[in-house]
Amino acid sequence: MSANGAATTTIYLDHGATSWPKPPGVAEAMTRAVTELGGNPGRGAYRMAVDTSRAIHRARTDVAAFLGVPDARDLTFQPGCTQAMNLVLRGLMRPGDRVVACSMEHNAVARPLNALAAAGVEVVVVEADEAGVIDVDAVEDAMRSQTTKAVVCQHAGNVTGAIQPVADLADVAHAHGALALVDGAQAGGHLPVDIKTLGVDAWACSGHKGLLGPQGIGLLYLSPACQPDELVTGGSGSGASEEPLQPAVRPDRYEAGTPNTPGILGLHAAVTWLRDNGEALRAHEAALVRRFHEGVLSLPGFRVLGPDLGVPRVPIIALTHERVATDRLAFALDRRYGIATRAGLHCAPWAHRTLGTLQTGALRFGLGYGNTEADVDAALEALAELGEELA
Ligand code: PMP
Repeated sequence: MSANGAATTTIYLDHGATSWPKPPGVAEAMTRAVTELGGNPGRGAYRMAVDTSRAIHRARTDVAAFLGVPDARDLTFQPGCTQAMNLVLRGLMRPGDRVVACSMEHNAVARPLNALAAAGVEVVVVEADEAGVIDVDAVEDAMRSQTTKAVVCQHAGNVTGAIQPVADLADVAHAHGALALVDGAQAGGHLPVDIKTLGVDAWACSGHKGLLGPQGIGLLYLSPACQPDELVTGGSGSGASEEPLQPAVRPDRYEAGTPNTPGILGLHAAVTWLRDNGEALRAHEAALVRRFHEGVLSLPGFRVLGPDLGVPRVPIIALTHERVATDRLAFALDRRYGIATRAGLHCAPWAHRTLGTLQTGALRFGLGYGNTEADVDAALEALAELGEELA
């Protein structure tokens, strides 16, 4: 209890927003970046700068291998998934181009698309079904009539936890001469991701969610066919400072300025941990999310958004109550039980409009690393009490 009698956070169930805590090695790698590897990577021939460059090179190589990226140079470090999706969409789309998007997109995609639409890009939004899953045939239909430059879709939903058929969407996109661009923010770490098999042209991800790295670092894979203009130009560390324009070589083209070395090394440590423990963690998450989903279904008044029980999803459960506002539930869960969740629209108004919850929002539980069955049971017990008491 804190001084004002409120519970302190003891059960963290907001992994959909950001993961916490981080696995062993992440904080240590970040500390090392600050205490030992202080040189500016690529910007100096002295030992410390060279060591920092090598550490970043190793991080890129290992993270690329973890994600099944064939050529590590196609994987760039970005400040986050939002920045990465802005780079791809704004860097590719020109007035007169056409893009097909899914109605479940997060604002990291929806807002750049809205801005592009205002600038003369035709944005066609394909409605997902009531579980928040996009229908491949509906995307195909949307592409049949006109030349389309790209299809953009999330890999997994941050409101529903639904897993989208991204490999099939990539096939459809390619069959129509379009690029397949994927927002992988909620998929990385929670699903086994193999970029080669997915066959997508762009895959962006946060480092700080399921990949278990620190905040402020993210990833962007771009296939050789996907060549967005860079949004930021400047120092590249690659030597040719006299060149007037940003070098065209990857990864330098998309990584202007001094990189986030502590973030990159922290993410590297997290991915190294996931490489050895990710499969067991995913099985644990699947069991927890099922237990929670089942438990909520037995509570009167609650509705779970997204896929039915038993359908695979990333470990997110968002719910509504027929009489109690979800922000009241989130507030009481925090104050009385020390349970951290997130109410509202989750930066995804398109998704909530699709699900019919734009007016009410939802209460989201994001499960992940560090959570136990006891956490799930405590959340269910708290919901049962609050559902009765506040209704
Ligand atoms: N896309 C989705 C589906 C997300 O859930 C989020 C995070 N809320 C983002 C994009 C933005 O990611 P980042 O925090 O790395 O910018």
